[in-house]
Amino acid sequence: MDVRRRTFAMGVGAVTATAGLDALGASSGDEEGLRVRFLGSGSACWEKEPRTSKIFRRYSSVLIDGTFLIDYTWMAADMLPEGCHPTTIVYTHSHGDHYDPRAAVKLGVKHVYLQRGWLLEDAKRDFEKAVETIPTLPDGRTSALPEIHPLDVCVPFALGGYEILPLPGNHWTGKPHEQALIYKVTKRCRDGAVRLLYATDTSGLMSTVFFHGCRKDAPLTAVIMESTGNPVQKFGGMNISHSTASTVNDIFTTYLKPGKGRYMPNPGQPVYLTHIGYYEWGQKTFDEQLPPGLQLAHDGLDVLFRPSQLLA
Ligand SMILES: [Zn+2]
Ligand SMILES: [Zn+2]
Repeated sequence: MDVRRRTFAMGVGAVTATAGLDALGASSGDEEGLRVRFLGSGSACWEKEPRTSKIFRRYSSVLIDGTFLIDYTWMAADMLPEGCHPTTIVYTHSHGDHYDPRAAVKLGVKHVYLQRGWLLEDAKRDFEKAVETIPTLPDGRTSALPEIHPLDVCVPFALGGYEILPLPGNHWTGKPHEQALIYKVTKRCRDGAVRLLYATDTSGLMSTVFFHGCRKDAPLTAVIMESTGNPVQKFGGMNISHSTASTVNDIFTTYLKPGKGRYMPNPGQPVYLTHIGYYEWGQKTFDEQLPPGLQLAHDGLDVLFRPSQLLA
């Protein structure tokens, strides 16, 4: 596995990129494939929607194999499986629908990973404040500051049995030093590897993603893609106010369709759409409207991605 071990020293204590291994254990769980639970599948616009609404979606967040989280907010807490207490969060960026230090501290998280550019100016301070305001955890333990691990674009790191490659998202966060990230998560399984692209928030995919993240010698086998402004191309235009609006159809048909060598999913495995903008449609309407090959995620959806048969 091409994992470069690096030592970080950013004023938050020198740590290795493999920290978090203790929390995850040496194994990554299921040898059959990579399991994703969508804790939330909505974008930032759902906060005001009543939870009782049939169309309600929590902020986007996923739990990987029950072991670590990509993004996590207060909205998603009730979607964690019972007895599941992940201690590692990998953040895509600093927007409040992805990053919520109070929720992380409340969960008792020990390791957080985020892009280097906003670590010292914001994240460190945010977590210190969260620990101050939540001195005691719900189970009576004293809260503690997690280790904060800075990430660089295109520099992979190991997390337990996973290799995670941070890639640039096309998304403005409002912080001059921050680069929003999307992730390629690689897991070796009994019958090959699963290589999942988790891409939210990003308007399309930058060339770095194709030429480095989806190399033909290590193609993607699974994709979860945001579709904030435009889940079905014919139904709308860009949601410019969010500065993030992937035309997923374009991406799917132009770059990611099987046979191009950069994306090799199992036959019938869809691209899952998440980070949905506000629509007055329920899940059923989306399911009826989306073209074959695309499937809208919903809160609580569990998906097992198996290694690609095409690469066996
Ligand atoms: Zn977002
Ligand atoms: Zn965002």
